[in-house]
Amino acid sequence: MLEDKNTQKTSLAELGEFGLINHITKYFKVANSSTIKAVGDDAAVLDASEQQTLVTTDLLIEGVHFDLSYMPLKHLGYKAVMVNLSDVYAMNGVAEQITVSIAVSNRFPLEAIEELYAGIQLACETYNVDLIGGDTTSSTKGILISVTAIGKVDKGEAVYRNTAKETDLIVVSGDLGAAYLGLQVLEREKQVFKVDPNNQPDLDNYTYLIERQLKPEARKDVAGLLKELDVKPTSMIDVSDGLSSELFHICTQSKVGCKIYEEKLPFDPQVISTCEEFELDSTMVALSGGEDYELLFTVPIADFDKIKGNPHFSIIGHITAENQGLQLVTRANQEIELKAQGWNSLQKD
Ligand SMILES: [Mg+2]
Repeated sequence: MLEDKNTQKTSLAELGEFGLINHITKYFKVANSSTIKAVGDDAAVLDASEQQTLVTTDLLIEGVHFDLSYMPLKHLGYKAVMVNLSDVYAMNGVAEQITVSIAVSNRFPLEAIEELYAGIQLACETYNVDLIGGDTTSSTKGILISVTAIGKVDKGEAVYRNTAKETDLIVVSGDLGAAYLGLQVLEREKQVFKVDPNNQPDLDNYTYLIERQLKPEARKDVAGLLKELDVKPTSMIDVSDGLSSELFHICTQSKVGCKIYEEKLPFDPQVISTCEEFELDSTMVALSGGEDYELLFTVPIADFDKIKGNPHFSIIGHITAENQGLQLVTRANQEIELKAQGWNSLQKD
């Protein structure tokens, strides 16, 4: 879990900024015809074409968004790309380019930056995205990484948050809560390690949770799956802050309410068993945990038969009138008003 401190390190100062840029970008290949010029000039050149362009940015800061004592740099690079691609997919788009800017303190040698970019490169190759630019600079403390993703969507095909309609079904891809629990497991092991560095953690029961936290995958496949089913979402968002917060975004912007059913929420068996162990409520974890990077979307009720029983999707509720508010129907058939709790509020607890 911790960095190996004994291997030989190359200082960044020795290499210089342009040396560093050349070094870390030399293995990146261009995969999209819209990328006319990638890294290496004053600016990248992209072909505009007939489609519409999507642009999204996220900034990740050490100590705020990640902890390097259990987040390997390769995973950090991969995840920093994923959180941005997820936003492009949440618009029903295809991601084609990214820019990556980093600020690092001199405590990081070249080998650390290579690890970070190995993760970025793996993400680019896996998701067919081109690295086209960015900036590298120094920071006084820690590491900052900012990724911008650029994508395309056919005219009229972008799916927004403000277009959900009363009676629409609410659907989520995959399962919820695992990434948050993965973080709880890693935090616990970090505390154990502090007390007894010789303690070898046994993480066999948490493999899925840890993978969801350290190596999330953006749902590039959902657009294609829905096209095969001949379903077009009426609204869509990615689950980055927790189901509750994302439902608030859709309902507030669409001026509607919603009703979701506790018994319909999709959980992996490891989420259920780990919630029992940590004495956490799995529904609360799904609502407030976040970082699942699944897609939450609404579809017309007429599409019920097309979605029903599909292993990739769970119908968790439906859209109601605005004056109905946001309601959770519990397993005991009680209605509870949802609160817009994100990941941070659960952390403070
Ligand atoms: Mg988002």
